[in-house]
Amino acid sequence: IESYQKKPVLVLGLAKSGLAAAKLLNKLGAAVTVNDMKPFEENEAAKELHELGIHVVCGSHPQNLLADRQIEMIVKNPGIPYSNPILLQAADQGIPVITEVELAYEISEADILGITGSNGKTTTTTLVYEMLKKDGKNPLIAGNIGTVACEVAEKAKSDQVIVMELSSFQLQGTLSFKPSAAVILNLFDAHLDYHGTRDAYAQAKGKIYENLTSADAAVINADDKEVCRLSEETQGTKFYFSVKQKLDHGAFIHEDAIWYNEERIIAVNEVVLPGKHNLENILAAVSLVKTRGCSNEAICSVLTSFSGVIHRLQFVRTLKDRKFYNDSKATNILATSKALEAFDQPVILLAGGLDRGNEFDELKPAMKNVRALISFGETAPKLEKTCRELGIEVINRVDNVEQAAGAAYELSEAGDVVLLSPACASWDQYKTFEQRGDMFVRAVHKLE
Ligand code: ADP
Repeated sequence: IESYQKKPVLVLGLAKSGLAAAKLLNKLGAAVTVNDMKPFEENEAAKELHELGIHVVCGSHPQNLLADRQIEMIVKNPGIPYSNPILLQAADQGIPVITEVELAYEISEADILGITGSNGKTTTTTLVYEMLKKDGKNPLIAGNIGTVACEVAEKAKSDQVIVMELSSFQLQGTLSFKPSAAVILNLFDAHLDYHGTRDAYAQAKGKIYENLTSADAAVINADDKEVCRLSEETQGTKFYFSVKQKLDHGAFIHEDAIWYNEERIIAVNEVVLPGKHNLENILAAVSLVKTRGCSNEAICSVLTSFSGVIHRLQFVRTLKDRKFYNDSKATNILATSKALEAFDQPVILLAGGLDRGNEFDELKPAMKNVRALISFGETAPKLEKTCRELGIEVINRVDNVEQAAGAAYELSEAGDVVLLSPACASWDQYKTFEQRGDMFVRAVHKLE
């Protein structure tokens, strides 16, 4: 880390993570420049950094910034695409571009457990964290889940472990990043707009296995061909998990129970989290915590009490024998398919949102239990068309998820599941998927 002394570093983009990275680099003695599009007057983070004596450039990305400041390294916000003019220049000039998680790795005294995948990251990260905590291991949680990785890494002690959720955007900006155990949960088409091609996306995720040594664990989804392919070249010691087959080593489902190697840990029907997809997350979590010597008691205690991360197939309430679930985080077809597959009962599906131009045919195989659709948002007509083709009842459109909750309750019968799982992003009507989910949950609690 001495190498940062006087090093001219540019922090590009000042969201929470950029602010933290700039402060850290400043502390490490780097000559920090910060560049953010938001004008200085309305830019609280920029003002704070300016106060610290950091060189702040706001409102534009000036052409000559790299040359003027003799920049030798860039820490970019994960959301900024590599097509940004400054990043294109940097690529031309061979200036390394990293994300803040690389910094976190460099300064961390604690081991890192890295978790990535297209779906299930937050759930798995939370499960791992809860299991280790229950086991008295004093873990920390960080990354894409909402707490800035380098801030957590700064505080972490050498006997702690950081459970880190990693997005493909964050991973793409890593160089030496090396967790002591890492998992890619699965790989589906996602974020192709950012990464350009499916291959580039897979490669970014694959970086989580890249620097592992034999002392580190590569946890691999044996049921996902592409994850297996991405793990082919890792030097990490391989641990597999599977919901489909019994394994000699690793975590698997056998005779309706969760097993790890030759130990039967818990019966599946004692697990509170609903859905087969969550069994995948659980097996991944079990594999990861087992690399830290976590006890079966701690694992079982979490699995028999943890009812899901908020907005992720979160159980809300039972009212007159109808069960309500909030899965507002399901912003793509795959997530909604998984949610639907979690139920055997008839489902009233509440869906719709931002139109990204896709059709919903891929949702059809998962819709056999859907009794009715209540739709809202830009994609409502498309979802209605898909349902009509399957002969599913389509309720006249509602304006928002609050109305949808009421309409669903009116239509429901005892034994039904009412499921908000939109299959679309929320930005046509809501600021965030959290806002959408909160509105639904409030409405459900008002029903009587
Ligand atoms: P992420 O952090 O990767 O977005 P979450 O744990 O927040 O993942 O879950 C988001 C949604 O993705 C869930 O509501 C669920 O519908 C779906 N999902 C979760 N885990 C899996 C999985 N292992 N495979 C497929 N879909 C999943």
